[in-house]
Amino acid sequence: MFSTLQEEAALRGRKGPPPPLASLAPPAARSRRFARSNCACGGSCPKCSEEKRPAGPRQARDGDQAPVADQAEVLAEPPATPAYRDCSERITGITDANERLETARQRAREFVGAARRALGAAPVAGTTYETALGRHFIAPSAAQRATIEDNYRQILGTLVVSNYICNSQNICEGEQAFWIEADDLVHVCRPFWELSPTCRAIILIHEGAHDVGIGVAGAHPPNRGSAQYPTGNTAAPAGQTTAGRMDNPDAYAFFAAHIWRDTDTGRSCF
Ligand SMILES: [Zn+2]
Ligand SMILES: [Zn+2]
Repeated sequence: MFSTLQEEAALRGRKGPPPPLASLAPPAARSRRFARSNCACGGSCPKCSEEKRPAGPRQARDGDQAPVADQAEVLAEPPATPAYRDCSERITGITDANERLETARQRAREFVGAARRALGAAPVAGTTYETALGRHFIAPSAAQRATIEDNYRQILGTLVVSNYICNSQNICEGEQAFWIEADDLVHVCRPFWELSPTCRAIILIHEGAHDVGIGVAGAHPPNRGSAQYPTGNTAAPAGQTTAGRMDNPDAYAFFAAHIWRDTDTGRSCF
């Protein structure tokens, strides 16, 4: 189903328009953008170290009012928006890249926290959790659920300010974002800024999964929206395995969003 060009694009990152001619690309753009990291950090190396504070309480969902108990926090001085590396207007083409990236990072952390909390228990019939587990991870055993939870723990370690850099159109080849082994950073490209807030968080989890070694060996695993991993209220196609989904960055991204939002998204986030 994929053309060769699309397959090559999938290896570099999330789907985008066909890349420019190689002769126009700078040297950095020619290296594979999803190779396994040498850092083997597991969330402990300086670059990938987990933030010291634990995952916070679940924040209000889209459109929800903050719970009364959170009023004091809401009224307190908001923390300053971090300055992400190279996320200037000149590079990103927008004036609020730091704000958008910070919002996405915090939301991604919320998604991952919700997923980790859910995975501690076996699914109960008729719950969103049961539906989400089957749709994104097929039928994991208790031991596999524990492994998935540990992978989320490592992904949380990538969702830190120092793990990101904004890139210009000269370096990006149409990706929303990509991770590369060379600098162990998640590179954020202009198409990322046009995504919905939910999809921006999904993309950060996807790239964080690559950062911890998921979906970096061999061909890129099927992204959400493909025949192997369709969007919407659709059962997993035959042939999809738990082991395969456990190595699929989108499974982590879309499961976590599904749990936190208490409903799946119909978007493929492309
Ligand atoms: Zn990917
Ligand atoms: Zn790393």
